[in-house]
Amino acid sequence: MRRPNFRIACCLCGKPVPLSSDAYLLDEEWQRRYPRMVGTLACGHCTVSDDYYWTCRTSGDAFVDGHRPSVRHPAGNCHDSWNHIQAHGTHVAMVMSSPWSGLLQGAEEYLRHTSRRPGLNRDVARDLRAVIERWDAQQANH
Ligand SMILES: [Zn+2]
Ligand SMILES: [Zn+2]
Repeated sequence: MRRPNFRIACCLCGKPVPLSSDAYLLDEEWQRRYPRMVGTLACGHCTVSDDYYWTCRTSGDAFVDGHRPSVRHPAGNCHDSWNHIQAHGTHVAMVMSSPWSGLLQGAEEYLRHTSRRPGLNRDVARDLRAVIERWDAQQANH
């Protein structure tokens, strides 16, 4: 079977992330601020858009209430939404590093296919299958 193609639906705007550009993995602080986000993978347009730009601190320089630390700046030296982008890269790399988001955002068939692919690193395969099992269990409860 050939590798299934997939398109990621941006977690913020819902539009397909263009294949020609990277996907962006957002962290918990983004999820806290945008609880309606579906998954954590965004398009490059949203991550630099004024619509989704925010700063971590109030005008008094304290973190806003409920602020979750940035994974990339754990010492608390984060400033804004850009510092809360965990990673960016190819669509394949991003759904593999955040498979739950991949399942939510359009890469289910691809991830199932990959989890059964001969030669896939054993640890990666085991982790991926565990996520898919959790996904299937949750779907069965709906
Ligand atoms: Zn978007
Ligand atoms: Zn921050």
